[in-house]
Amino acid sequence: MLPEVHVGRRSALISCQIDHYRLIVGDELIDEIFGLAHKLKGLKVCEINSTAFGGGVAELLPRLVPFMEALGLDVDWRLIHAPTEFFTITKAFHNALQGKPHTLLESEKSLYLQVNEQTAKLLEERYDVIIVHDPQPAALRYFAGQRDAKWIWRCHIDSSHPSEEVSQFLLPYLNLYDAMIFTMPEFLIPGMTVKRIVFIPPAIDPLATKNMDLPLDICKRAMADSGVDPTRPVLLQVSRFDPWKDPLGVIKAYQLVKQECREVQLVFIGAMAADDPEGWALMDQVEEEAAKDPDIFVFNNLAGIGNAEVNMFQRGSDVIVQKSIREGFGLVVSEAFWKEKPVVAGNAGGIPLQFPDAFRWYLVENIEDCAERILHLLRKPGARGAFGRAGRERVRQHFLLPRLVRDRLRLIRDLVDGREPQRSS
Ligand code: UDP
Repeated sequence: MLPEVHVGRRSALISCQIDHYRLIVGDELIDEIFGLAHKLKGLKVCEINSTAFGGGVAELLPRLVPFMEALGLDVDWRLIHAPTEFFTITKAFHNALQGKPHTLLESEKSLYLQVNEQTAKLLEERYDVIIVHDPQPAALRYFAGQRDAKWIWRCHIDSSHPSEEVSQFLLPYLNLYDAMIFTMPEFLIPGMTVKRIVFIPPAIDPLATKNMDLPLDICKRAMADSGVDPTRPVLLQVSRFDPWKDPLGVIKAYQLVKQECREVQLVFIGAMAADDPEGWALMDQVEEEAAKDPDIFVFNNLAGIGNAEVNMFQRGSDVIVQKSIREGFGLVVSEAFWKEKPVVAGNAGGIPLQFPDAFRWYLVENIEDCAERILHLLRKPGARGAFGRAGRERVRQHFLLPRLVRDRLRLIRDLVDGREPQRSS
């Protein structure tokens, strides 16, 4: 049997909380969700990914699964089980789909397929809908066969510039799916023949510990407890240690800011994801840089930084930075906006989707621009407030969990009803 992630007994709790979302997103959306769910009650759904810790998918599923269960669907969340070498290969696939050149070795193809074949054998239960996340388990559909289920591949990656070699290898496996979800049309991988492709951006849960309201003085006290001086300006980047998140570029931008604003501090909160072996080396590099400057702080989930701490640091910081070079979506951007924080971010992938129109000047292409926009915000607290409020409203309208649940339920309904596919945009 494939390892299962238990999301605890939160279903009952969420079930009474669904109505709490009405105050935030309005009745129409919640009523539509209940209407869709009514027809799908009892449907057996399986979500399959490669890790329960670290990264956006591991962040989303613990919120989505209980929500869908509370609506009456029967949802399991299962993980593929594989050796570290497999995750080194799939991280290379991930990087290649995000545009990094990669020469595919026969040994890589063979271990990738072997793990997917074994995983398919372990998938014993019967499901109506199987949702496979990202490239790691993508060949599962091929090895498992149709099994009377509807198969959905959910790609969370910025695959707008995929390496030809890796995409050509994966395409025959991907093209077997009944439907695909991408965050935006730009991410479509050339050569896909699947007829039902929908574009559904991820979302954050405003009621989760990571995003719930907290008093600012408590947040600042927690920061002080970690050695950060909350009376001085704080810049924060929260992300996996991944070259695409450009933490070394963030340090360079901070150093430019520091030339003008001596008081500034930089905090990194960086999770280590179980399916991302590349992260350790980059974390060492970031820590090496931090060791040279007492105003740079590096915290990670191994040091007890969990959702509540991330929430407190996001609320207590002055400017949130997300200097990604490629980004599938960047949940951290919505998390920051929801807290009415200004964000200076890379103009990459799904990040611009989240920006309020009037504040796109804060989307940056390079280190110098990043430093300039940060300084501008540090000098103008009024601009920070207006930007943060506009960001929160954009997130409220487009990037909260109920909208994501609604879009997924619509897709599941269309699939199980056998409705004619229509490409959304
Ligand atoms: N995150 C966290 N602790 C960390 C680093 C990241 O809780 O040390 C969370 C972050 O708050 C966000 C998710 O992990 O919810 C990262 O998702 P995102 O879409 O930003 O990036 P991904 O890792 O999926 O590329």
